[in-house]
Amino acid sequence: TAKSTIMEEAVKKIKVTKTTKSRLSEVDFNNLVFGKKYADHMLVADFDGKEWKNAEILPFQHISVSPSNAAWHYGQAIFEGIKAYKDEEGNPMIFRPHDNYARFNRSAERMGMPDVPEWLFVGGMAMLIDLDRGWVPSNPGCSLYLRPFMIAADEFIGVRPSDTYKFMIINSPSGPYFNKPIHLLVQDKYIRAFPGGVGYAKAAGNYGGAMYPTMQARKQGYDQILWVDGFEHKYLQECGTMNVFVIIGNRAYTPDLTNGTILAGVTRMSVMEILTDMGLEVIEGPVSIEDVVKAWKDGSLREVFGTGTASSVAYVEHLDYKEHQIRLDTNKYDVGAEVINRLDAIRTGKTADDKGWNFRI
Ligand code: PMP
Repeated sequence: TAKSTIMEEAVKKIKVTKTTKSRLSEVDFNNLVFGKKYADHMLVADFDGKEWKNAEILPFQHISVSPSNAAWHYGQAIFEGIKAYKDEEGNPMIFRPHDNYARFNRSAERMGMPDVPEWLFVGGMAMLIDLDRGWVPSNPGCSLYLRPFMIAADEFIGVRPSDTYKFMIINSPSGPYFNKPIHLLVQDKYIRAFPGGVGYAKAAGNYGGAMYPTMQARKQGYDQILWVDGFEHKYLQECGTMNVFVIIGNRAYTPDLTNGTILAGVTRMSVMEILTDMGLEVIEGPVSIEDVVKAWKDGSLREVFGTGTASSVAYVEHLDYKEHQIRLDTNKYDVGAEVINRLDAIRTGKTADDKGWNFRI
């Protein structure tokens, strides 16, 4: 739908109650801690079983929820993660919100939840950023992290899909992206997702289920798990909450999405396009850890990195699999570095947005 149509509908349907006391002056933009401070306003809307109503932008505040709220018990809860940046002139832009919108509704379908309309998700988000534009950081590497989410709202502890739902958007300024190389463990004890499961959905439970295995890996000194498939324990899936890329020679390999176990990253999609622009051959398909070990041994493995909204591109420095200890010199990651440069330049309006990725406010 055209941007003007989405915005017209949003403005017509979303009530706005502005704060009388902005908290913006309390924020130290030179020392932003991710996920601690929230912008002045939030968006709330209710699904009554038939349609979305009571859409409102109002001051960020606590909400009252019954202990019998169905989401708390059975996990009908989904979310998204998006970033807004400022261009050189200080105008806010949201990076590819329509792609997150599409993914949100794919998650909703898989969890038996209702679709969210475009005017509410994209239009509501744009109205919110317009109102809280002062919260979008302009210092290098900083951004406003946008968190749309939906939860079941029935006050009923019988196991069945909720009839009612709540959709909300909250926004948190986040600090400069610092590319600290990461250490990954490949293990076959814990599996993130199986074909036919919910791996491709951004469902809350996927994250809850990954906490314990990740804690175990952290105790052993790793940052994240490089998840592999649950049958042969050898095909790469994702690393932590990022998609994974392996650069061998002039080829960039990334696992394909066909069996529904992997989250279709918006950064992944963007990076695949950028790598192609850079002249690399991008191959989407099964990537086995044995092939990575083999490439490392024969000297053709150049880089391994993760991609995601929160961390952009995270370089992998250590990769441990059984008796193999892959060690990579991330100072030589010229592919990853160039990907970050190009991505940043687009997101902050330093280069022409030929691909139409920025949604300008
Ligand atoms: N995989 C998982 C499991 C994730 O949670 C994320 C973060 N949304 C990603 C991959 C990366 O996706 P995106 O690039 O859209 O942030």
